[in-house]
Amino acid sequence: MNSPINIIQNHSLKQLNTLGLSSIASHYAEVGSEVELRAALAFARQRQLPVIPLGGGSNVVLGELLEALVVRINLLGRAILQRTENAVSVRAAAGENWHEFVLWTLANHAYGLENLSLIPGTVGAAPIQNIGAYGVELRDYFVALDAMHIESGEISRFDGPSCCFGYRDSVFKGVWQDQYIITAVTLSLDAQLKPKLDYGQLKAMLAHGTGNPQALDISQAVCEIRREKLPDPQKIGNAGSFFKNPVVSVGTLSRLKKEFPDIVAYPAGTMWKLAAGWLIDRAGLRGRQQGSVGTYQKQALVLVNHGGATGQDVLDFASMVQRTVDEKFGVQLECEPRFYPG
Ligand code: FAD
Ligand code: NAP
Repeated sequence: MNSPINIIQNHSLKQLNTLGLSSIASHYAEVGSEVELRAALAFARQRQLPVIPLGGGSNVVLGELLEALVVRINLLGRAILQRTENAVSVRAAAGENWHEFVLWTLANHAYGLENLSLIPGTVGAAPIQNIGAYGVELRDYFVALDAMHIESGEISRFDGPSCCFGYRDSVFKGVWQDQYIITAVTLSLDAQLKPKLDYGQLKAMLAHGTGNPQALDISQAVCEIRREKLPDPQKIGNAGSFFKNPVVSVGTLSRLKKEFPDIVAYPAGTMWKLAAGWLIDRAGLRGRQQGSVGTYQKQALVLVNHGGATGQDVLDFASMVQRTVDEKFGVQLECEPRFYPG
C-alpha cells in the first residue's frame, strides 16, 4: 500500500507509558497531520487491525503484546480564536502537551486552567475522562472538539452536551469508545482570573501569600503540591489515581459513618463522594507492595510500578485492592485508567 506514513512493526511502548510497562505494539505510527492520521487509519482498516490512539500514555495499562495499530498523536498547534471583555476562546491540537498548553493560556491572559496545572498527557486525551483537579474540570471551559471517525476518516465537531461529560467520564469512555480520534479541542477561558481555592491544601499553601493570588501563583502552588505528593513518572512508574472516588448515597454514608466516624466524604449533588485514597489507606494498604506493584506511600490511591511489572501484575494488584476495600467497607472501587489486554 502506498502510505504517506511510516508504520513500524513490533515497536516497544515501554518509554511511551508512564507506568513504564513493557509492551510491544505489533504496528505503530506517529502522526503529525490529519492526512497522516487518515492514512494510518486506512492501513489499519486494510489489515483489520484495531486502532489504539496514544497521547502521553499516562492513563493506560498496556498488555505485553498488542495486536493493533498504536497511533501516537503528534498533531500540534494552538491559537487564540477570539478575545472579548469576559472570555478568551482558544483552540489546541490534540498532540499538544497539556501542562505546556495551560502555561501558554496563562501567559496569554486566559484564565481558568491554573488548577489543572501539571496534569500529564495531551490536550486530545483531556476530554476522554474530562480531566479534573482541585475543583476544576475540563468541562467547565469546554466548547467543542474535532474528532476523526476511525472507520470513515471523516472529521466531525462535538459540543459539550454531545460529549456527555461526567465525573472522570465522557461519551468517549462509553458508547463512542474506540470510534473517534480527537484532533483538536476548543475552550472558552476567562478574561479575568476567578480563583477557585476550595481545596484545603491549595488554600493553605496560598494563605502564606498576599491574600490576592495571581494565576501564576495558583499554578505554581498546584505544581508544588503535586510534586510533593505524587510520584514523578520519570522516576517511578504510575498512572496517577488508579481508582475513581466512589460516589455513594446518603444512606451508605450514614452506615459507614457509624463504624468509621472520620471517613472522608464530600457532597456530590444529592450523593456523597468518598475519598478512595482514604479507604485504601484505612484498609491497611498504603505502601503495600506485592511483587513489583504497590500503592504509593504518600498517596494510597496511586499504584506504582517498582520495576519490571507487567500490565497483568498491575491489574492483579488492583483487584486485590478492590476486594480488600469491598470486604472492609462494602464499597466498590472503579479503575480509572484504560486497560488494553495483550
Ligand atoms: P493516554 O494515556 O495516552 O490515553 C488515555 C486514553 O485516551 C486511552 O484510552 C487513549 O486511547 C485515549 N486517547 C488518547 N489520546 C486520544 C485522542 N487524541 N483521541 C481519542 N482517544 C485518545 N487525570 C486527571 O483527570 N486529573 C489529574 O489530576 C491527574 N493527575 C495525574 C497525575 C499523574 C502523575 C499521572 C501519571 C496521571 C494523572 N492523571 C490525571 C491521568 C492522566 O494524566 C489524564 O487522564 C490525561 O488526560 C491522559 O492523557 P494522555 O495523553 O497521557 O492519555
Ligand atoms: P486530596 O487533596 O488528598 O483529596 C482527596 C480527595 O478528596 C480528592 O480525590 C478530592 O476529590 C476530594 N476533595 C478534597 N478536597 C475537596 C473539596 N474541597 N471538595 C470536594 N472534594 C474534595 O487529593 P489528591 O490525591 O492530593 O489530589 C488532588 C487533586 O488532584 C484532586 O482533585 C485529584 O482528583 C487530582 N488528581 C487526580 C489524579 C488522577 O489521576 N485522576 C491524580 C492526582 C491528582 P476529586 O478527586 O474529585 O477532586
